[in-house]
Amino acid sequence: MIPYKHEAFTDFSLEENKRKIKEGIQTVEGYMGEEYPLIVGGERITTEDKIVSYNPANKTEVVGSVSKATRDIAEKAMNIADETFKTWSKIKPETRADVLFKAAAIMRRRKFEFSGLLAKEAGKTWVEADVEAAEAIDFLEYYGRQMLKLKEGYPVESRPGEYNQFNYIPLGVAVVISPWNFPFAIMAGTAVAAMVAGNTVLLKPASTTPIVSYKFVEVLEQAGMPAGVVNFIPGSGAEIGDYLVEHPRTRLISFTGSRDVGLGIVEKSAKLSPGQIWIKRTILEMGGKDTIVVDKEADLELAATSIVKSAFGFSGQKCSACSRAVIVEDVYDQVVARVKELTDELTVGVPDHDEHFMGPVIDGSAYKKIMEYIEIGKGEGELLTGGTGDDSQGFFIQPTVFKDVDPQARIMQEEIFGPVLAITSAKDFDHALEIANNTEYGLTGAVISTNRMNIEKAREEFHVGNLYFNRGCTGAIVGYQPFGGFNMSGTDSKAGGPDYIQLHMQAKTTSEML
Ligand code: GLU
Repeated sequence: MIPYKHEAFTDFSLEENKRKIKEGIQTVEGYMGEEYPLIVGGERITTEDKIVSYNPANKTEVVGSVSKATRDIAEKAMNIADETFKTWSKIKPETRADVLFKAAAIMRRRKFEFSGLLAKEAGKTWVEADVEAAEAIDFLEYYGRQMLKLKEGYPVESRPGEYNQFNYIPLGVAVVISPWNFPFAIMAGTAVAAMVAGNTVLLKPASTTPIVSYKFVEVLEQAGMPAGVVNFIPGSGAEIGDYLVEHPRTRLISFTGSRDVGLGIVEKSAKLSPGQIWIKRTILEMGGKDTIVVDKEADLELAATSIVKSAFGFSGQKCSACSRAVIVEDVYDQVVARVKELTDELTVGVPDHDEHFMGPVIDGSAYKKIMEYIEIGKGEGELLTGGTGDDSQGFFIQPTVFKDVDPQARIMQEEIFGPVLAITSAKDFDHALEIANNTEYGLTGAVISTNRMNIEKAREEFHVGNLYFNRGCTGAIVGYQPFGGFNMSGTDSKAGGPDYIQLHMQAKTTSEML
């Protein structure tokens, strides 16, 4: 087995790679507008009611439509997943991992097509789509290998005349509810982590981006996944999401999405349903209000580029995005001026036509919400640049920066999930850390500093799950920077980390007298 190494990113300055991404987009154009069924126990089920997926950069263009699962279908899927668990959980971990390795190989061969699909369905730029396709492959390669390690169990001591063993066994049916912002990587990562651990999966992808998820389940099938292991059941939260979360046979819920939906899942899953004999496990990855702190002793160019890239990559629609910059007052004006210059250089455009730094935001309701926050921001700080949007063709918002914002202001506290950055100044480094921690979230953060003592202070006191020094706060790599946050950012379940698979399993001790 080749040791794990993350998938290389594509260099789009090369003509050859430009051609490949354009070909990938062309392949996707060949199947635009198609209808897709649900996949339950391998069976294709078509329903009257559809979820239509639109291109956010060209809002009348239909990427495809999928059948919408009803409660009856969700129940059927649950029964099949429950039944399939009896056999899948007994399949050797090596065989389960092989499905992931084979699927990763197929995905690698179709990488530019998947990137093209992410450009169409999620409005991702070439670079962001490529990074995501790489991450999806990484999750499969990494979790497959983690499962192989885990199958050995952990050594425990035995006294003379006794033989003790400690092993992890699967849990049961996992309900995986995946987000639209990483509709390939997080969807695939959360589904295969549950699956390779020996659980069966009910996969409910985000309604804005279901097509990439369908294509992925097809890949799993091609890779040899038996019917019923991962079931594809897009549908509404109210119709099937809540139903499955409350279902007595649900053993595990793996959710990535907003704070409010996540908290609703905590509440609903904690309540016993008639016939339920376990306490449901929840793995939750929720929001962020992530801060980059700039010290007075710092590479100020690095500070400005890190802020701009982390704030506006994928239009700020990452839970890791930098939505707050806290700059020590001695260097405030200088960094703010450079942030403005760099932001003004960013290009915004249609990602499935050409190369841009930013594409659209995901849909009309996101557009509306972000524009409302921009209005709120105008009353809370000074608009430095951006502030405008255009939703005539697609949902485009200019990268927007507010300076001199009070740390308690709404745009400093609430997750906007769009290309809006709020900047504030701090008296000194301690004050900057205090402001950085002044949020209910705790996902990512970064510190730009050359002062070793301040770096050490931040390492201890900056309370986030992913803390970065002298770089931006997005772009965690599977197996290198396990990803997950504190407080309202979730259960700190570290995706792409060495203990992630265990969260989908339970440990069993056996002790035999010899
Ligand atoms: N893992 C991604 C990153 O480090 C963010 C994931 C998310 O937005 O949910 O940027």
